[in-house]
Amino acid sequence: MTVRLAGALLTLLAVLPSSAPAAAGARVALTPRSPRIGDVSMVVVQGIPDGATLEGSVAGRSLVFFPYAGGAAALAGIDFETRPGRYWWKIAVVNGADPPLVLRGRVTVKGRQFAVERLTLPEGMVELDEETTRRADAEDAHLKTLYATVTGDRLWRGRFTAPVASPKPPSGFGARRVINGRPRSPHGGLDYAADRGTPVVAANAGRVVLVGDFFFPGRLVVVDHGLGVHTAYFHLDRVTVAEQDLVDQGQPIGEVGSTGRATGPHLHFSASIGSARIDPAALLRLNSRD
Ligand SMILES: [Zn+2]
Repeated sequence: MTVRLAGALLTLLAVLPSSAPAAAGARVALTPRSPRIGDVSMVVVQGIPDGATLEGSVAGRSLVFFPYAGGAAALAGIDFETRPGRYWWKIAVVNGADPPLVLRGRVTVKGRQFAVERLTLPEGMVELDEETTRRADAEDAHLKTLYATVTGDRLWRGRFTAPVASPKPPSGFGARRVINGRPRSPHGGLDYAADRGTPVVAANAGRVVLVGDFFFPGRLVVVDHGLGVHTAYFHLDRVTVAEQDLVDQGQPIGEVGSTGRATGPHLHFSASIGSARIDPAALLRLNSRD
């Protein structure tokens, strides 16, 4: 669609701040207005004609819109390795026979300091032989493919809930990890300390799209909440759901363990919107009123 729009519609281009009235009564608001890296902004569009279709992007990543509060909304995930700075958002309102209305504006993505964590692990979990490296790479690619899959039904509703009751606040999202003295890729999840056997629940309604036993994540569950939103639960001791199961928000899916590469029992909880790896805490803060 964007390609078709590019030539003919420049005259309709409206350059807007991130929350402002737009041509033809359409209004766009991003909350938060200036997300940090790893955050999720909810993009709400109002004043659009009934039956209009919306397409768009924030910082180059596509949005998937759903009906919301008499208009439409989409979640914009800001990948945690995005460079802070000013980016464009663009939304095309496609309204039947009329030429699409293209709205665009700027969004400032703010930086964020991540912790540096130094860990000591058994060398066998760090220096991998060739076969194990191949296995871990294939599993990682499998997860990336799943996260990038956008299924068409929105299954999530309202607020996301914490996946486990933990005695202390979760930590570690985005941490730059130094394992056995060597820098490794940053930590893409939030770690919840909890005893082995503590119930783990689905953060929101969705479909279980993966149950597995992977080298680094150990026993894991991935839930597809629809429209590109996924949550993943790693290091489980036990899994109590099967692939293709539909789960409700708060429904038990397994128990905390220390399978895979884990220094002790905890839940590693991660979330993504399309291929953007986001801070699960940002998803839990999301204030969707439906
Ligand atoms: Zn973790």
